[in-house]
Amino acid sequence: MLTGTIKKSGTSVITKEEFTILQRTANRIIKEISKEIMQGSIEIKPIYDFKTKRTSCKNCTYSGICGFNNRLNSYAYIGNRTKDIIMEELKEEKSNDI
Ligand code: SF4
Repeated sequence: MLTGTIKKSGTSVITKEEFTILQRTANRIIKEISKEIMQGSIEIKPIYDFKTKRTSCKNCTYSGICGFNNRLNSYAYIGNRTKDIIMEELKEEKSNDI
């Protein structure tokens, strides 16, 4: 039998409730994107992370064929929010949906 403790603060560990919220959010976003694609929207908009100053293109294997051009296309900028702030926002979204 394994024993131990989980330190929540300052780690990337999330609770079961937070995991469920993340799953629901991911499923909702997948449905939204699927709907947009079915309606013909295939905008190229990779992520640009302000915190790390990196893009999702950095290690992407599709860079040779996707057609993204940073002079013509724009990025989807993500802010410098902490995990706790993001989880609070998602919990508020969830409570507003009820
Ligand atoms: S290289 Fe193209 S496919 Fe890959 S993340 Fe960037 S925009 Fe998306």
